[in-house]
Amino acid sequence: MSSTTYQIPKVQKAAVVPSVGGTLEIRDNHPVKQPSELLPGECLVKLDCTGVCHTDLHAAKNDWPVPAKTPLVGGHEGVGIVVAIGEHTQDSPVKLGDRVGIKWLAYSCLDCEPCRKGLEQVCYHGQYSGFTVDGTFSQYVVSWTSHVTPIPEGLASTEAASILCAGVTVYRAIKYSNTKIGDWIVLPGAGGGLGHLAVQYAAAMGLRVLAIDTGSEKRDLVMKLGAEKWIDFKETKNLVEDIKAATDGFGPHAAVVTAANSEAFEEAIDYLRPGGTLMVVGLPGHGKLAADIFYTVTKSINILGSYVGNRQDAREALDIAARGKAHCVYAVKPLSALQETYEGLAKGTVVGRVVLNMQE
Ligand code: NAD
Ligand code: ZN
Repeated sequence: MSSTTYQIPKVQKAAVVPSVGGTLEIRDNHPVKQPSELLPGECLVKLDCTGVCHTDLHAAKNDWPVPAKTPLVGGHEGVGIVVAIGEHTQDSPVKLGDRVGIKWLAYSCLDCEPCRKGLEQVCYHGQYSGFTVDGTFSQYVVSWTSHVTPIPEGLASTEAASILCAGVTVYRAIKYSNTKIGDWIVLPGAGGGLGHLAVQYAAAMGLRVLAIDTGSEKRDLVMKLGAEKWIDFKETKNLVEDIKAATDGFGPHAAVVTAANSEAFEEAIDYLRPGGTLMVVGLPGHGKLAADIFYTVTKSINILGSYVGNRQDAREALDIAARGKAHCVYAVKPLSALQETYEGLAKGTVVGRVVLNMQE
């Protein structure tokens, strides 16, 4: 362990949701867990920055079937420096001074059946940053040494932040979408945080990208990032026909849907090519997937839920970003801009991501 010691303040700036569905408060006197209070296996990370994911808005609004903890400090795309490690921690994969990422999956037991099969994200004992434990909308965050993610050298913290959730999630979804080089993939939600990274990971994998979202700003962005075709979901008169026409008349081989509302999922079975795969990624609160049973069977459609990624997916997604194949497009803002960012996400006006500077 390094001999460096860090000065840890007693209080910090944090964005707190005080009660279920309550109004977000920016506080400057939120307590910092002191090094002496860390349990074995825990570390304290001083954050440089953190991305804002639509999931944070779901958690703050409490619109999912499972409630977030309260009071809640949201956030799960944080990058910072390890400034303390709990006493008696054994075999820590990180040391003081390391730059690490905090992602949605804060902890998994690594021993239950899902963990043993590489599905850590559905661990029976999982803990989630900014949901079941406090997350990264504070200047310091406590996490587990076993699950913080090393950030590759040369990848700026602001670039790395949103790879930790948005990037990992779409990277894994595309990886399991049963596609191969030259196949068509449709990306509804392409101009958002997850979607604009999906365009780039898909293009890097040699897929042909049909991007779907709305507005000229998002269209220009996704075309610049590697999409081959674009459909504005608010302008099309017949989405299914337009998608088929854009993809050789047969429809795409896969769809990775990252929109946060259930309408975007409705027609996927109709437009997918026979044998095609629907990757369900967006997390609208109470949506149902209305898949026509007859066509699901007779078109041999695969429907797969895809939930963030495991520690290996995180390493791979970051590595691809570090090699310049996927860049987060973001605006840097102070923590005080979190509420207006939520409003932008709700209205669909955030292009790419907002990344908060946590040391301002
Ligand atoms: P975002 O708001 O940045 O992006 C969503 C995009 O979808 C926006 O650009 C919006 O214009 C677009 N959109 C809305 N309706 C559409 C439609 N009918 N067709 C096409 N596009 C449409 O949100 P985000 O941060 O990218 O997150 C998206 C969703 O993914 C959220 O529900 C979030 O909770 C979920 N999510 C899931 C996982 C997972 O592990 N499965 C991980 C992270 C986020
Ligand atoms: Zn997220």
